[in-house]
Amino acid sequence: AEAVETPLRVENLRKTFGGIVAVDDASFVVESGSLTGLIGPNGAGKSTTFNCITGAHKPDSGVVEFKGEAITGLRPDQIATRGLVRTFQIARSLEEMTVLENLMLAPKGQIGETLWRSVLPGARGQVIKQEEELRERVWETLEFFEIDHLAQQQAGTLSGGQRKLLEMARALMTDPDMLLLDEPLAGVNPTLERKLLARIHDLQAEGYTFLLVEHDMDVIMEHCERVIVMHQGSVLAEGDPSVIRHDERVIEAYLGE
Ligand code: ADP
Ligand code: MG
Repeated sequence: AEAVETPLRVENLRKTFGGIVAVDDASFVVESGSLTGLIGPNGAGKSTTFNCITGAHKPDSGVVEFKGEAITGLRPDQIATRGLVRTFQIARSLEEMTVLENLMLAPKGQIGETLWRSVLPGARGQVIKQEEELRERVWETLEFFEIDHLAQQQAGTLSGGQRKLLEMARALMTDPDMLLLDEPLAGVNPTLERKLLARIHDLQAEGYTFLLVEHDMDVIMEHCERVIVMHQGSVLAEGDPSVIRHDERVIEAYLGE
């Protein structure tokens, strides 16, 4: 990974849906190697911001910069190729496949056909070698998330928490620098929640950068070293969780939901 102090920079982001201003002039940065939380009450604009960063939405105006380059308006796969990857819910078509197959296909799904073909060139011997390497990485990843015992199970039969582990495993298969997670702990039981958070901390220690979007303030306050609070489409406060927790505007915003 390239050393860029602030890999993600969001400047004056604005996104409207008809008359609704979902994101209203939001600006913030995410520091390299950090575990940063983006929180806010329901309707604050967190998911819309997330979608503008990852290319699912085109912002009306503003700039999203990743590793010093504007990525505003690029397609999700183009953004993923640059090393900024979000987790995706396991699609219907992938529910029928096993956990193992889900990981084998992950790079293809996330980075798109073109790059996949360049990763796996046509020469047959080369393909077999690449496939072996891929298989090895898949197993390492399965073991890291402690879902190797589920390898042959259909993805559709996993519990909510196991799905989240698989979603993160899939994202990691694309070899990103930074991961964006939208409500990674929603519907996850406490045991798997601890496991998921432990893996996030492990990956952070390896140098990955995280932006976690969460409605639940407590988890973010406990696990993130920096928090950005959104309210009514704008950034209301940002900084150290211990300070943010006692910020009256933040408390008020949450009370008002
Ligand atoms: P959060 O994730 O913080 O709960 P969202 O980004 O989902 O907030 O929503 C912000 C605002 O934008 C809300 O008022 C929501 O109703 C509105 N909104 C989000 N997505 C759409 C959409 N696709 N069409 C119309 N309004 C939307
Ligand atoms: Mg949301």
